[in-house]
Amino acid sequence: MRKIGLIGGMSFESSAVYYRMINEAVRERLGGLHSAEVMLHSVDFQTIVDLQKAGRWDDAAKRLSQVAQGLEAAGAACVLICTNTMHLIADEVQASITVPLINIIDETATSMKAAGIKRPLLLATRYTMEHGFYTNRMAADGVDVMVPNAEDRTLVHDIIFNELCAGVVLDTSRQALIAVIERAKNVGADAIILGCTEICLILDPRNLPLPGFDSTAIHAESAVEFALEGIVRSGRQAA
Ligand code: GLU
Repeated sequence: MRKIGLIGGMSFESSAVYYRMINEAVRERLGGLHSAEVMLHSVDFQTIVDLQKAGRWDDAAKRLSQVAQGLEAAGAACVLICTNTMHLIADEVQASITVPLINIIDETATSMKAAGIKRPLLLATRYTMEHGFYTNRMAADGVDVMVPNAEDRTLVHDIIFNELCAGVVLDTSRQALIAVIERAKNVGADAIILGCTEICLILDPRNLPLPGFDSTAIHAESAVEFALEGIVRSGRQAA
């Protein structure tokens, strides 16, 4: 099995979900007490948030590139940045290592295209919804992403940083997010992208007014596919 390198801690609430999902998927496929070979470098999130707020994306790219290089040097065969937002600098991180960086935007686009989705609503941080790196990359993949209006973008962003990343899950916020989804449905959205790795803590993608695509689950599954390639494919033992 190939070793998975995770750049986590952004926030640790979602890194814990990645860790569980990856290990559960490996146990499911290989049986017995098999589990994944995973290396996690969990950063101090406040230092990353400070760089985000200051718009210091170059410094953030340097920091995450150093972490990625450390994971590669320690034997990781692939690297995942366990946050959608920091994919703003994913190309710089990929350029700093020789192993593949499994990109959460590409993996989510592939999953939606396979399901015939054309006009999904993106629920994410302000950076992911507004900076273009996400919607442009999806557009290049043939997916026309819709973002909430300005008021709803603030609502979603604040729920992510003030609550979910701090380990707080409120029913009132869940209802507010469902209302955002209903509004998007009324203007033609055909799916929901849980485009922040903490949103799965508050919304169940299988129980929404529109089909949900959970970036955390899709990304974790892609890592397992990569790690087990040649060992197991789609639950079958490879020849
Ligand atoms: N985990 C979140 C995401 O997927 C937000 C935290 C961050 O700003 O990195 O975008």
